[in-house]
Amino acid sequence: MACGLCGVLALNTSQAAELKLRIMQTTDLHMNLLNYDYYQDRLTDEYGLAKTITLIHQAREQAPNHLLFDNGDLLQGNPLGDMMAKVKPMAPGAVHPAYKLMNLLRYDAANLGNHEFNYGLPFLRRALSGAAFPYVNANLMLTGPGRPRYAFTPYVLLDRRFTDSSGQSQRLKIGVIGLAPPQIMQWDRPHLQGKLVARDMVESARPLIPLLRRQGADLVIAIAHTGFEKDAQGLGAENKAGELARLPGLDALLLGHAHAEFPSSAFAQHPGVDLQRGSIHGVPTVMPGRWGDHLGLIDLTLARQQGRWRVVNSHAELRGVFRRETRQALVPADPMVAHVIAAEHADTVSHMRAQVAQTSAPIHSYFAQVLPDASVQLVAQAQKAYVQRAVQGTDLERLPLLSAAAPFKSGGRQGWSHYTDIPAGPIALKHVADLYVYPNTIQALQLKGAELREWLEMSAGQFKQIDPAGPAEQELLNPDFRAYNFDMIEGLSYEIDLSQPARYESEGRRSASQAHRIVKLQYQGRPIDADARFLVVTNNYRAHGGGGFPGLSAEKIAVDAPSETREALAQFLASAQVLTPRAEKHWRILPIPGVRMVFRSGAGGIAHLQDTPELGLLREEADGSAWFYLRP
Ligand code: MN
Ligand code: MG
Repeated sequence: MACGLCGVLALNTSQAAELKLRIMQTTDLHMNLLNYDYYQDRLTDEYGLAKTITLIHQAREQAPNHLLFDNGDLLQGNPLGDMMAKVKPMAPGAVHPAYKLMNLLRYDAANLGNHEFNYGLPFLRRALSGAAFPYVNANLMLTGPGRPRYAFTPYVLLDRRFTDSSGQSQRLKIGVIGLAPPQIMQWDRPHLQGKLVARDMVESARPLIPLLRRQGADLVIAIAHTGFEKDAQGLGAENKAGELARLPGLDALLLGHAHAEFPSSAFAQHPGVDLQRGSIHGVPTVMPGRWGDHLGLIDLTLARQQGRWRVVNSHAELRGVFRRETRQALVPADPMVAHVIAAEHADTVSHMRAQVAQTSAPIHSYFAQVLPDASVQLVAQAQKAYVQRAVQGTDLERLPLLSAAAPFKSGGRQGWSHYTDIPAGPIALKHVADLYVYPNTIQALQLKGAELREWLEMSAGQFKQIDPAGPAEQELLNPDFRAYNFDMIEGLSYEIDLSQPARYESEGRRSASQAHRIVKLQYQGRPIDADARFLVVTNNYRAHGGGGFPGLSAEKIAVDAPSETREALAQFLASAQVLTPRAEKHWRILPIPGVRMVFRSGAGGIAHLQDTPELGLLREEADGSAWFYLRP
């Protein structure tokens, strides 16, 4: 053994002290700074950084040594985000309201999520310039000649003083690496093409861990805007928590993007998970939900070994702002937020309240996953009207025009109050955003008849298979299927036969079965010709392959519109002046004799049953949901 090491070892024995360090994480805030639902136009107890701040203060009081990180999907996702980026863009030199707050909270570092790119790079750079803490990303590179250059700061080495268990001040260096899903290149292609190149997250992080060690890092943390899949993920995949946790030398892993909660029983069957300690393959890990509904905490116990601090024990947990089972607030909102962003909030609320039209009947999405639905059809019609104008005088004008749309607000993972629910009367801008939550743009694909059927087969994966010989009551909806992938195609009529297995698994993998669920597919009352050409309106997410629909990809884009779907919807509503929402019954689930098909939705749907003869109520639950059934 070298003599130099003897001195280090001697020093260690005289310094047996431990050091406790708490790492805190927020993620996927999506501009929910105040605990305010801009679509419902009221305060909420269920989410908002104003609530998380109270948890942050409590956690800091309990643990004098602490670090605070954010994992991105911060700047976009609600009308306040749109206000700052588009409606009343920030003046040069102004600080984005997210950073007014996060600077006061003394965040230590933050990571970029995929939604940070939704408003384009110039906006992002301008907003980030207001952050008083570093941003990291290690897997996005600038395009251009010569050696690849990082588009952002790949990592930081934080230099901090903490107090050990004997009261001594200790200097620690903490390496922090940021990662974002490479899929941003598809999702925001118009903003990023020719400017950035995305690399695999794991391969980007791998060399940086030993590099940070060589630069003196006692700890290395990855803030990764990525989820956690059960199965092994390949190069370039979107959700790579499992693979990241297996990288040698990582001391803590901060996750996000999937809006899920880790540790929680949802991940009990995933490989390498220890729910008690809160770890994946031994690496302490948190994913604190979304919109500030949880704070993620990792408590590390460090001891000095071989010249640097090492983790000897860890515990990770989530703390929530709201108890879902009893619908109770767990913490008050910190009043600081309402003060600091008062002007931006007031601008947003008044913008959202401006009237654009009237509706003669309520418009809601409680049953949009099981029945043709006016809230979805309004979007389909608005998109169609927009593209009809856009193709006037071009060759595309001659193609039959169809329009695909899906339910966006559909409870479940987002909470049982997360539905579109607009009463009869005036329609304001807040309702437009309520009908169409995402800042997608309009695109139209040129497709063949055969491809339309596969599109709908993929959508029909939303449903479980119903066994005609099985129990008398069977559940309809597959909880793992995202409702925003349940596209309905306006202009076609069809029936869905759920006695058949799904033709596709998630992400468009053909299932083993050759079955078809979509039957009696017709255009203008006649069976669809497999070779006939159609123009189908959708959004940028789907057109660029989002959701992994078979046959849908960017090469088939025939109309690439600059407008947001919401702008088209606002135009459509304004030109209608008075709406008479009525769902055209262009598709249905085929009844299966002897089986009652049941599904869960928000209890708010009960009030609309009187106008929905196709459905009956089974029972209401205490958590704000209710069970309904399809009448045969
Ligand atoms: Mn997100
Ligand atoms: Mg995300």
